[in-house]
Amino acid sequence: MIPFSPPRIDDATVKAVEEVLRSGWITTGPRVKEFEKRLAQYCEVPRAIAMNSWTNAAELVLRWYGIGAGDEVIVPSYTYCATANIVVHTGAKPVMVDVLDDFTIDPDAVRRAITQRTKAIIPVDIGGLPARTDEIMRIAQDTCGLFTPRLNLRVGGRNPQMLMGRALVLSDAAHSFGARIGGRPLGVQADITGFSFHAVKNLTTAEGGAITFNLPEPFVMDDIYAWFSMMSLHGQSKDALAKSKAGGWRYDVTMAGHKCNMTDLQAAIGLVELGRYDQETLPRRKAICERYHEAFTGDDRFIVPVLGDGRRSSSHHLYMLRVAKATEEQRDTIIEGIARRGVSVNVHFIPMPMLSFYKGLSYRIEDHPRAYANYSREISLPVYYDLTDGQADQVVAAVKAAVREVMGA
Ligand SMILES: *Cc1c(COP(=O)(O)O)cnc(C)c1O
Repeated sequence: MIPFSPPRIDDATVKAVEEVLRSGWITTGPRVKEFEKRLAQYCEVPRAIAMNSWTNAAELVLRWYGIGAGDEVIVPSYTYCATANIVVHTGAKPVMVDVLDDFTIDPDAVRRAITQRTKAIIPVDIGGLPARTDEIMRIAQDTCGLFTPRLNLRVGGRNPQMLMGRALVLSDAAHSFGARIGGRPLGVQADITGFSFHAVKNLTTAEGGAITFNLPEPFVMDDIYAWFSMMSLHGQSKDALAKSKAGGWRYDVTMAGHKCNMTDLQAAIGLVELGRYDQETLPRRKAICERYHEAFTGDDRFIVPVLGDGRRSSSHHLYMLRVAKATEEQRDTIIEGIARRGVSVNVHFIPMPMLSFYKGLSYRIEDHPRAYANYSREISLPVYYDLTDGQADQVVAAVKAAVREVMGA
């Protein structure tokens, strides 16, 4: 059986984790700080902060921006549920808009969805292909006249909504660490960019995530970093490492914070992954996607994914193939046929309006025809560092045989 997305764990990973285990310090400490520094360098931003998931990091961003009941946040209907769940957690309303043929959020639909209640927009880089984030930034700027900041908001002594004067653009880059827009790494386009280091993502820490900041003046980066650090650890004025120093026991709690800090064990895995990301991980993933591309391009039974265009280059997180003429049922049967041939595939994603929770809130898939058309024909093929060329060829053969079986010809 060819698995879908196992993590790359080798002696280097095991040794790094063992060192932390034997060091006497396993939770947030020097490795996390080092990981944050290297992430910021990689993304060419002043600061990055690591946490235990994309979800908790991104939710903290919405809370930092004072988003809550009565507010709206624009998200694509085609994404993992986390993108909208964090909006629900804050009490605000996720406003779902349809996507383009390349699976990313439709900028025109975003423009139409903006109201006086819009506080943030969350474009998603599906499969590793960046959304049109610079266009979304322009839309946020163009519509600043509609933006209605909350006047009584105070975060670290300031009102971020008043300082910004427009909707915040938070990029969901859970899939796209290492992707680029206009030759620049992700992080410098949106106001805030969130990465996921979940076990199946391109760069993993088992579970984990990070946000990078690209905020205009007069935001003060050191203050914002301090606020997020504190809020990820119960609002405590000192972290566990500072408290463990001789005489360092006294602390204060200035906010009812969350608990979503990253541990040094996770950061140790992340440092190994980051150290070989550009030299090993990305090139291998790219080579596999290009191998698939060669096999499926020009065969009109298939629609191949966009791996890049003049401006955007993918992180090659997923190879999102579509079977051109398949119905949803036929696609499901094709997946069974692929599984019978020993290959694990996946579907990214079931559009959120099709999930019970969101259906219950009256979202309707009929309002998202492109999302449905993309989803109903989609099959994600295995892409990971340890997948060999021979295995990739086996995947291609299994897909083609299963499609022939179900679709004929
Ligand atoms: C994985 C994923 C997330 C959530 O990341 P976690 O680190 O697991 O919280 C968010 N958005 C998308 C598009 C994802 O695929």
